[in-house]
Amino acid sequence: MSRIVVVSNRLPVTVKKEKDKLSYQQSVGGLATGMSSFQKDYECLWVGWPGLAREQINGDEKEDLIKKMDQMGNYPVFLSQSHIEDYYNGYCNKTIWPLFHCFNQFTIYQNHLWEAYRHVNQIFCQTILDIVQPDDTIWIHDYHLMLLPNMLRKRRPDLTIGFFLHIPFPPTEIFRLLPWRREILEGLMGSDLIGFHTYDYVRNFLDTILRLRGYENSLGNVNYQNRMIKVDSFPMGIDFNRFYNSSEQKQTKLEIQKMRNNITQKKIIISVDRLDYTKGILERLEAFSTFLEDNPEYWEKVTMVLVAVPSRTGVLQYQQLKHHIDEMIGSINGKFGKLGWSPISYLYRSLPFHELTALYYIADVALITPIKDGMNLIAKEYIATKKDEKGVLILSEMAGAGNEMGEALIVNPNNRTQISWALKYALNMDEKEQKKRNISMQKRLKEYDVKKWAEDFKETLIKVKNAQKNLSARYLSPKNRLKIIKKYKISNHRLFLIDYDGTLIPEHFRFKQNSPSKDVLNTINLINRDQKNKVVIVSGREKHFLEKWFKNIRVDFIAEHGAWFRKDSTKWQTIEPLRKEWKSQIKPILELYTNRTPGSFVQEKEYSLVWHYFKTDPTFGRTRAMELMDSLTYLTSNLNLEVYHGEKVIEIKPTGINKGATAYQWISEKDWDFILAIGDDWSDEVTFSYLPNSAYSIKVGQGISESKYNIHSSTEVRALLKELARKS
Ligand code: UDP
Repeated sequence: MSRIVVVSNRLPVTVKKEKDKLSYQQSVGGLATGMSSFQKDYECLWVGWPGLAREQINGDEKEDLIKKMDQMGNYPVFLSQSHIEDYYNGYCNKTIWPLFHCFNQFTIYQNHLWEAYRHVNQIFCQTILDIVQPDDTIWIHDYHLMLLPNMLRKRRPDLTIGFFLHIPFPPTEIFRLLPWRREILEGLMGSDLIGFHTYDYVRNFLDTILRLRGYENSLGNVNYQNRMIKVDSFPMGIDFNRFYNSSEQKQTKLEIQKMRNNITQKKIIISVDRLDYTKGILERLEAFSTFLEDNPEYWEKVTMVLVAVPSRTGVLQYQQLKHHIDEMIGSINGKFGKLGWSPISYLYRSLPFHELTALYYIADVALITPIKDGMNLIAKEYIATKKDEKGVLILSEMAGAGNEMGEALIVNPNNRTQISWALKYALNMDEKEQKKRNISMQKRLKEYDVKKWAEDFKETLIKVKNAQKNLSARYLSPKNRLKIIKKYKISNHRLFLIDYDGTLIPEHFRFKQNSPSKDVLNTINLINRDQKNKVVIVSGREKHFLEKWFKNIRVDFIAEHGAWFRKDSTKWQTIEPLRKEWKSQIKPILELYTNRTPGSFVQEKEYSLVWHYFKTDPTFGRTRAMELMDSLTYLTSNLNLEVYHGEKVIEIKPTGINKGATAYQWISEKDWDFILAIGDDWSDEVTFSYLPNSAYSIKVGQGISESKYNIHSSTEVRALLKELARKS
């Protein structure tokens, strides 16, 4: 079994130095809690920062630390105090964290923090390169290491790299504010699989790479530099059984008893989070205050136990938030409290497992209302701990978990009145309803627990890698290239059917009207030097362009996707008589879409009508194109027309006109002993389908094709043609 190298900012074990002695402690946090159970089942090495600055440990301690970590399956990355300040407290937590949670007002953009982020990603990269073994699978976690996938890919293109983001991916309008947006996106594109908690984040990411980098996707598959990358959602689960069985453990039972003795009110509401502005703690307190204000009958009958786990205490916003929370709790307790009753019981610390699950277990209601949260594991843990199936979860619709926990009372974290109502509803919910809701949620949490989540991610990563291998097996290998050359050398009647846009010239010139480069013309001239060769340019372009561009060059043409052809410099001919009457019915529809889609336009060719949308906003253009395809498919079926959806174009033309049928004029002309057809898109697939078995066919770029081989680019096409020409 191959090894998994898990990489995250923090190791699952935090090292502390107290009284000159190192101590080791399990880290708190979603990822650490989740991955710890995964770590048990695979050969797994975890690479990350141990939690102490380089300056805090001397040489001997370092040795000791490395040894201890090694025993636990961990490999430490040492960071200096200034790295921690600028990379971790700085770029990670003052730039990425607020921006990705849509707290634009808290986001700071500073070059030296960015530099530190890049530098630390490089340190991680070097560490991994030092220890990686040939078949390792690398699984990188979270926003601290978004440059790492591409850094590794550049040095080791063969690696299998997965990346999972544990925080939200923001909408493009927010993400684009980041001055280093290109670098971050390119960094992530080094991965083979990019995972998010929810489909919303997947959609935001796919939309962003399309709009900011022009990378299209098909069902989450992105063709990036001839490598297929998969983007998908994997909602992170928890160690269900650990929580489910906790209430039966002695230690938890003891805690439950202690809590019941101390909290004498009938109803307990809990609020548990890291102290973070994304968690909506202040808004929640306001809502609780509204609830008490509106429902005096609950005074002295409910207590909210508010656990705030200290977090990022070095960052100003967190210090200020702590101050505000302290104040607000004081003010609510002061306002509503009575002798012997405080509405809020406040704990500013992290609870160990048994205390935490005891609290989950005794709580009648969990009020979890983040303003924005990647997933929120606490919501899942609360439900999982309820072995007696009693309790009500009130959950923010802005938490990733909200997507999977529809049976919870879902609220808008900013709507105080709604939260106050939800509290009342929850406190009055009968047990039967509570159980019904909780059983459904528990079933799902048990099925897709953290182990399943990790396995699902790993399995998908392997599938992506296999799909990449299958595709690359189709790429023209040196051996097959030699086969083509050998056949070329011994043949006397050779036919070349060569597409123009995306094949002879690069894809990005597709919509331009520049004449072909010298290299393109030279390539054709080189092949033409041998009288045994016949070249046909098989294009979607109009005939006058081809005529002009290849003037004085001995080539035949197929124009307008097969509507026109010209042999041996004679007159242009058509396969079928020109049929135009349908255009008056279709053109108004295309014009309507053009008016409604800025940047799009209609091109009228003799045989066809084309709607171009390459100049539109990519997402909008694609949506409109889908709508147009829908209406055209219905309309054209009666008119004997075909509709093709190509690269940012929709083309409508009479049925039966295609490159293949026209190319057959040449294919069937004589007994060729060498045929080579090269093309890049849907229209060339038809040509490939008309070829005899002995012919060679090559598709430029990635993707499923009728062709025998794939090749990477138009540059490689020209190189191959020139190489053949030299063998004459
Ligand atoms: N947690 C804990 N003790 C506490 C409070 C929280 O161990 O007093 C753990 C909790 O079990 C959960 C994690 O911290 O697994 C918090 O994860 P979550 O996804 O809810 O939030 P994050 O802190 O990752 O933003």
